[in-house]
Amino acid sequence: MDYKLPFKEYNKALRKNKLLGLKCNDCGSITCPPKMACQECQGLDLEIVELTGQGKLLSFSTHYIAPLGRDNEIPYTVALVELDEGPWLLGNLIDINPRKMDMGLIGQKVTTAGRVFPGDTYSDGPIARPVFSLVE
Ligand SMILES: [Zn+2]
Repeated sequence: MDYKLPFKEYNKALRKNKLLGLKCNDCGSITCPPKMACQECQGLDLEIVELTGQGKLLSFSTHYIAPLGRDNEIPYTVALVELDEGPWLLGNLIDINPRKMDMGLIGQKVTTAGRVFPGDTYSDGPIARPVFSLVE
């Protein structure tokens, strides 16, 4: 079985601020980040689609302990976002002081971009990840 959208291709698009997902031709659901099968019905008839990156903040967690070798990044906030197309996506929330996060931000609109993070002991070099910004 082949991946319709291999992680490498998804990551390459993210570096250009393009968020790709997979649309299921059986049930219509969108899967993102990409998986081998539809996350709703496990269907394999998938097509690559570009997502808007628009969504809303479902939850967040602010971290004060850095991953190994990345002390310069703390504190930072990881957000769980529900994309307008349906899937839930994790990424850092940027352009806001992590110390100023409060529960009133839940439900706020966000937009997605890609940002390249440095590699660490456990990864294969720099990698792009989704990041979110609050929409004013
Ligand atoms: Zn499906």
